[in-house]
Amino acid sequence: MWKEIVAEAKQKSVKFDFTILGSGTSQGVPIIGAEYSSEFLANPKNHRTRSSVYIETNEIRFLIDTTPDLRTQVLRENIRHVDAILFTHSHADHIMGLDDCRRFCSINGHRPLPIYANQKTMRDLERVYRYAFESPFIRGYFKPEPHVIDGPFSMGDLKIIPFDQEHGSMGSLGFVFEQAGKKRLAYYNDCKKVSKPATEAAEGVQVAVLDALRPMEHPSHMTLDEALTAARRIGAGETLLTHLTDFYDHDRDSADLPESVIFAYDGLKRTLT
Ligand SMILES: [Zn+2]
Repeated sequence: MWKEIVAEAKQKSVKFDFTILGSGTSQGVPIIGAEYSSEFLANPKNHRTRSSVYIETNEIRFLIDTTPDLRTQVLRENIRHVDAILFTHSHADHIMGLDDCRRFCSINGHRPLPIYANQKTMRDLERVYRYAFESPFIRGYFKPEPHVIDGPFSMGDLKIIPFDQEHGSMGSLGFVFEQAGKKRLAYYNDCKKVSKPATEAAEGVQVAVLDALRPMEHPSHMTLDEALTAARRIGAGETLLTHLTDFYDHDRDSADLPESVIFAYDGLKRTLT
């Protein structure tokens, strides 16, 4: 009996919190040198840093991607602990903040930081951050601990299922996160479509985050219509559209979205129970 009460209490206290650190396309929004109305700029939800997410459970705290805006994002959200990083792919807008994670090496007791990526992305990271991969660990500097993703894996109390995605000539990884038998989050960003296996794996997920770059066709990202089709097939409790360009005005265009679908914005938080 006592054991059951403890087990139940433990189940109830399972925590899965996530924050949209950035909801913007590769250039961010506003785009350098572009003209905007004062109404557009007055809405903080139209200010989009590059796409990234922070996830916190009882056992692990990690980032998906390290954008060029990482330092700003982490300071804004007062994030003090990162135990690991997951990479979707190696386009500049997803990897260029990695060196700023040196602080987390220090905070974690002067230890290398585990980073998870598929082989292709890891190779690119090794090339871009060669000094960090090759040098011995030096206090105060960034040092990665590489983990190559080649199938489902575990991190803390999460089971993570990766999916290869179409994304131009590069490709990318999408992820489904499961915790204590619950499908918590599907993160399908930087993709031209959501494959059948990825759709099936995400069915019934609590939250889906989907690439919805812009309304018009693009060779390596989903359009709004493509994202809405994927959202319908997945049937998540809530769908957040991300990697957004300045074609969207958050408040103006939100009215046209179906129920349970919203535009992500920087700083959006969810606690899943
Ligand atoms: Zn990309």
